[in-house]
Amino acid sequence: MRKALIEFRNVSFRYSDTNPWVLKDLSFSIYENEFVAIIGHNGSGKSTIAKLVNGLLFPQEGEILINGVTVNEETIWDIRREVGMVFQNPDNQFVGATVQDDVAFGMENRGIPREEMIKRIEDNLAAVGMLDYRLTEPHRLSGGQKQRVAIAGVLAIYPKVLILDEATAMLDPRGRKEIMQTVASLSEQQGLSLITITHDLAEVVQAERIIVMNQGEIWAEATPREIFSKRNQLKEIGLDVPFVAILADELKRAGIELTKEPLN
Ligand code: ADP
Repeated sequence: MRKALIEFRNVSFRYSDTNPWVLKDLSFSIYENEFVAIIGHNGSGKSTIAKLVNGLLFPQEGEILINGVTVNEETIWDIRREVGMVFQNPDNQFVGATVQDDVAFGMENRGIPREEMIKRIEDNLAAVGMLDYRLTEPHRLSGGQKQRVAIAGVLAIYPKVLILDEATAMLDPRGRKEIMQTVASLSEQQGLSLITITHDLAEVVQAERIIVMNQGEIWAEATPREIFSKRNQLKEIGLDVPFVAILADELKRAGIELTKEPLN
């Protein structure tokens, strides 16, 4: 059996005592080497999940375990070594004066020896196709290039799980595809679990499992094909016809045959 890398046990969260509960008694696991997409309309709680995994927030109720360790104020620094996050806006993620400084930053914080750092900078920039830009200032890069560098920086710390929170949202379709291909093949090579929080259905279809969030609860948890078979119910939670139509298209493109015409 696969090992659970992330476990949410009856997690409830709200931003303050006077705010409504944003996540309600949420339980799920994400396993080693698994590729999971989390989808749902705006405000359904997806980003809050990502922030809880990384200990940017803590739940008021329930427990979150990463690799068997409970996330709390004491464990969070160790846990952040295991969880790599890439967010939507690459400009908010840069700290280095050059691309290579930026990739080095996360490693410097973790006391990785210089020789090893140089090797990891080269390996990871090469893996995302950005080695030629190692001395470039980040602000000169395109959006897609910036996201690649952000991913290289995160991968250089050898996390066990990589979370992309709308990380491809600002890219064009080609840029998105390239990033996802890069990330998927790297995560396979490094044995990483991959979680993508996304509106992009091409990404969703590639996932082994989809978690559909609705109003702070899991509405469904299944393979892309199974989720698609619930297309009429998906409309009820605001994931509407364009969503299901495009999903059908993407499933076909991915070679997953549908037994019925998608929009009947
Ligand atoms: P999603 O990522 O699915 O769009 P979020 O996790 O960002 O959803 O938000 C879930 C709910 O929490 C929304 O109702 C949102 O308005 C609320 N929320 C998010 N961030 C904050 C915050 N910093 N303070 C108060 N409420 C917030």
